[in-house]
Amino acid sequence: MRNRHHGACYRCGKHCKPGEGHFERHKGKWRHQHAACAVKYRHTNVHFQTNPIDTSQGFHLLGLYFEILKQHETAKEAIEELLNTDSNVLMVGINNHHTLPVEVFIERYGTEEDFVSWKRISK
Ligand SMILES: [Zn+2]
Repeated sequence: MRNRHHGACYRCGKHCKPGEGHFERHKGKWRHQHAACAVKYRHTNVHFQTNPIDTSQGFHLLGLYFEILKQHETAKEAIEELLNTDSNVLMVGINNHHTLPVEVFIERYGTEEDFVSWKRISK
C-alpha cells in the first residue's frame, strides 16, 4: 500500500516521503520503499544495510588465487553469469569491501530461484 507516513527506504536508505513509495509488512515489521526502488530492485534482496548496492566498484568474480576474472556493475549481472557460464569462480568480491563464497553471495543477493538453480548446477 502507498505510504502515508515518512520513513527510510530499506532499499536505498534514503528518506521516503508520504506517497512516494510503499509501506509493507515484512517478518512482522513494517517497512518503506520508494516506488522507484521497488521497480529497480524487484526480485533482488537489495537492502541498504545488509546487501547494499554501490556501483562505484561493483562485483568482482574471483578465482582460486583471488585474481579478478570479471567485473559486474550489479549483483544481478554477476549472478546471471555465475548461473549461465561454466567458470572457475570461487568467491565474489563486493565493492572491494568484502568477499563471499559464490554460494553465500547467490543466497544473499539473488532470488530464491537463483539459489535453487545454483544448487542444481553446483552439485
Ligand atoms: Zn529508495
